[in-house]
Amino acid sequence: MRTLNKKIKRLLDGIESEVRYTQNYIGKSKLDDRVMQAMATVPREKFVPKYLRISAYDDGPLPIGHGQTISQPYMVALMTDLLDLKPEYHVLEIGTGSGYQTAILAQLCAKVFSVERIVELSAQAVERFSKLGYNNIETHIGDGCKGWPEHAPYDGIIVTAAATHIPQLLLDQLKPGGNLVIPVGVSPLSQSLALVKKDLHGEIEIKNILDVTFVPLIRGEEYENYSLH
Ligand code: SAH
Repeated sequence: MRTLNKKIKRLLDGIESEVRYTQNYIGKSKLDDRVMQAMATVPREKFVPKYLRISAYDDGPLPIGHGQTISQPYMVALMTDLLDLKPEYHVLEIGTGSGYQTAILAQLCAKVFSVERIVELSAQAVERFSKLGYNNIETHIGDGCKGWPEHAPYDGIIVTAAATHIPQLLLDQLKPGGNLVIPVGVSPLSQSLALVKKDLHGEIEIKNILDVTFVPLIRGEEYENYSLH
């Protein structure tokens, strides 16, 4: 195996051990090699506030301001794996946040469309994408519960905040044969990561993968800060 920089090795080891720990839920003991390669490529330290850089390669979520968090690397890797991306795919992401998950997706598919409701987080993410040279990411500020109809349908959709139910508008914007990965639950203490598959006839199948904790998906476009504290 290639000699990996120590920080990246720490990140990958953290993900791999969590994958093994949850293998009975996720149905595999190892994630897709391409996903792990993307996790090894995107510099997570560039997506967290400066004072938290020291923790950027730990396998945990971190605050990014506005009461929001950058997801745990294991969760980013797992959700990306569940999307089962192909290089030609167009993917919709709801909840740009730091832009870290967006960058991982951009490593693995042709185009990523990412919607965020907090103006400042979106602006910071856009700056990161441009510094890191991503040219296959488009961002939008608005209510992701409505998706982004202009570019629909999508080969895959990922939601990085917890919804109380699966938004119909997102299902409508998913191509037959596509996957939607979304945390669903009415309270932060009872959320489950759902893998929603739309078959070629448009039939929906929902599989609950495992319990998760995400910040809530907030309806409406108004600019407001949400804090868990
Ligand atoms: N993938 C991000 C996760 C950020 S946390 C990362 O790893 O950094 C979830 C994000 O979803 C927050 O930035 C929050 O503002 C955003 N969000 C919540 N409700 C939303 C909505 N209705 N539309 C768009 N974004 C939303």
